[in-house]
Amino acid sequence: MSEPAAPAIDYRIDGYWMREWHGPATVRVTPESITVLSDTATADNPTVDAPTADARTTDAPTAATRHLPGVLLPGFRDSHVHLGLIEPRTLIAGGLAAVDDLGGDPARLIQWADDDEVSALRYAGAFITAPGGYPSTRAWAATLSVCEVATPEQAITVVAEQVAAGATLVKVTLNTDDGPVISDATLTAIVEYAHSRGCEVVAHVQGKGQALRAFTAGVDRLAHSPWSERLDDSLIEQMVKPNPRFLGGRHSWISTLDIHGYGQRGSEFETASDNLRRFHHAGGIVHYGTDMGNGDLPPGLNQRELTALQDAGVRNDALLRALCLPGFGSTVSHLPTVPDVDTDLAEWLMTATVVTARELMRTQ
Ligand SMILES: [Zn+2]
Repeated sequence: MSEPAAPAIDYRIDGYWMREWHGPATVRVTPESITVLSDTATADNPTVDAPTADARTTDAPTAATRHLPGVLLPGFRDSHVHLGLIEPRTLIAGGLAAVDDLGGDPARLIQWADDDEVSALRYAGAFITAPGGYPSTRAWAATLSVCEVATPEQAITVVAEQVAAGATLVKVTLNTDDGPVISDATLTAIVEYAHSRGCEVVAHVQGKGQALRAFTAGVDRLAHSPWSERLDDSLIEQMVKPNPRFLGGRHSWISTLDIHGYGQRGSEFETASDNLRRFHHAGGIVHYGTDMGNGDLPPGLNQRELTALQDAGVRNDALLRALCLPGFGSTVSHLPTVPDVDTDLAEWLMTATVVTARELMRTQ
């Protein structure tokens, strides 16, 4: 960090994806950033290809320009993990540049957030639930962190504690299959207070009517595609509409389809997929997420989750939007081959490597 500023290095690449596909381009790498070199192919105007389209064939490489075969995508994020139940330092090798932890001990999460060997981390801290509610009775909850709250006042205190410990998300559970759930008054107090602190509220909903309850109370994200019941089209229509009472103006869902059977698709998988298919088709915002730590899931990008998303209609640009960070920043995904129309994206995405700007500087 204390070294003098290193010179920028330019790489020619065969293509990149940012909101949509772009052809060959040049990217400029500094120790802190990776930027597409183009006046026009920016986030504001993504329709114009980078100007160095024929650099591969006509330009002799300069001392500072190398060809990096393949394409770059923004880093991949798994929007639902539990680092306390896995080995957090394996995730970068598994292709994940970023993760959202949706339930864990804030004292440990704050350390992982500072660890360069762990994917970029946002976290919720403790699960917030009713006294005796899910997941307080689960064996694995002992290694994470669960706060049982009986009143709105207690709930606000607990949220404030998580925010003080670095949380930028809030996780609540509404699971009537597995014990009592917090009241509407407590849920509303959590949402209002969390929003006043700039935190999105994410809910585990399980049991009939809980998705509607969460949505009605202003919960920003569902931690899972609902699987307890088929949601009415009319509810889904409401859920996908822009609405200022959600932080960021939209309600959204995290996919987690593969937790239902880990490849052995059953009725809960089908219900969740059907809900997600209709939510996506109606224009809903979907985030790739696996609930990693919960059951037999790979420590990294999960091809079965990607395939399940595709099977639910979340394909092509929509699949990449669900998976990718908004921009390049200092970390990108590098894939060694250029996909064509016949490429199965789920399979192709598994060839991604997380690459940092500093690594690209070093390989010179
Ligand atoms: Zn979870």
